Order: sequence, then C-alpha cells, then structure tokens
Amino acid sequence: MINKTLSSLIAMMVTCYASTIVAAPPWNHDEQDHWGAIEDSSQTVIPLNYPFAECSIGAHQSPVDFAEAKIDNTRKLNNLEIWYDVDSKPVFFNTGHAIQVNTSSGYKGELKIGEESFPLVQFHFHEPSEHAVGGEKFPAELHFVHVGQDGRLIVLGVAINLGAENATMQTILNNMPTTEGGQNPDTGIAIDPTTLLPSLRHQKFDYVSLAGSLTTPPCSEGVQWYLMLDPITISAAQLDQMKGFYSNNVRKTQNLNGRTVSSTK
Ligand SMILES: [Zn+2]
Repeated sequence: MINKTLSSLIAMMVTCYASTIVAAPPWNHDEQDHWGAIEDSSQTVIPLNYPFAECSIGAHQSPVDFAEAKIDNTRKLNNLEIWYDVDSKPVFFNTGHAIQVNTSSGYKGELKIGEESFPLVQFHFHEPSEHAVGGEKFPAELHFVHVGQDGRLIVLGVAINLGAENATMQTILNNMPTTEGGQNPDTGIAIDPTTLLPSLRHQKFDYVSLAGSLTTPPCSEGVQWYLMLDPITISAAQLDQMKGFYSNNVRKTQNLNGRTVSSTK
C-alpha cells in the first residue's frame, strides 16, 4: 500500500508537479530554455529557490538524438518483459501539458527487468516525438512510466508512426477531459495498455537504453530509459485529434555528455 501510494505520488509528479502535490511554479514548453531559471515565488526568504535547476545544470538530461550517441550492442543486457494487464478503472487525465492515463490503485501490470518488477503507474503522449535520430522525429511518442519499490523511475518509450488507426488511442481521445487538470475517473471503460505496443515475442522486444531524466520540470535525473525499436501506428485523424489537446509538447534534444546508449541489436 505504501509502495502504491508512493507510486501514485510520483506518477502525478512526473507530469503534474506544478499543480497537485507541491506548490511549484508554473511552466510551459515555449519557455524551456529557461526552466532552470524559474524561481519559486512562494518562497519569501532570500535566496529564492530554483526548483527546476536540474533542467539547466543536469548532465544526464532527456530526450536525446540517437544519431549523436555511441551505440554499444556488445554488452549483455537484461531481458525486459512486459506484463501489462487490462485496467478496468483507468483515470483519463489532462495534465495541462499532455494527455495521460493513470492506472487504478489495484492495477497489476508491470515491466520486469531481470528479476525486478516495476509497476506501470501512468502513460502519456508527446507530439511530435521527443527522441530523434539525426534530427528526424516520429509524429508522436508514447511514454509508459513505471516506479519501482524504491522509487526508481523507468520510462518505456514507443515511437508512433502514421498508419492504421489504433482503437485504444481513440478510446483515450474520446474520454480525455478538455480542461487542463481535468480527470475522468469513472467512465466504466477498461484499457489494455498492451494494445498500444508493437507485437511482442513472448513479452520480449528489442530496445535501446540509456540513463536520462524526466523531460519536463523538474527534469530529475536517475530515470532509466528504454526505447522500443519498433513503432506503433495511429491514423492521421487521430494525430490531429491529439494535437487538438497539445501540440509540440516536447523538449529539445539534450547533450549526451559522453553517455553510451546500449542496444539489443
Ligand atoms: Zn513523457
């Protein structure tokens, strides 16, 4: 229960840090070059706090452009296995920065990394993709956010291409509140997150991985990223509908600072 509460708190902080848990200052993507300089005006003592300083001074920030990275496919990597489950009571959440689905309190779905389990607490969308290859981006990117028992954050990223419509994406779009901060918890609609994944081979898949950060303030580091090599598709109409909520809700690619990217192939 404590773990689930911790997970829920972190899930909200990841995309809704500003308005729900901590009275951190507001931010937006247009002013991302200055996130680190935003002052916490709720502090009345001098010096003022800079709650998002890590956005400016961090050395392991996300997202990145993989064309600039040294790719290492010689190391033996952990097996990742996706064991997501149907969530019968998801919360459709318009965070003010992205459209998001929070899993319900009894949700059992998780990502297994080696012997460790990381429960899925929420997933959300960016348009276009945040990660890039040689400056090229996908039309959109999906982030599955997992929190371990010790609070470690694992994000699984899935690139989104244009193509066949995705029925689950349509359900999410149709049930998403239009007001910023709005939550829709009691739709009676179940969501199966596996329908937003490329086809798996016995729960396994190819990926690249690197150490990074949250891509939104407070840009906290210590986030391990796994990016699936196969994309999913949504239709052009669905992308347009997504853009009706948030467009260009992405952070610029960040300096790798010598980080190596591990790849399964
Ligand atoms: Zn994200």
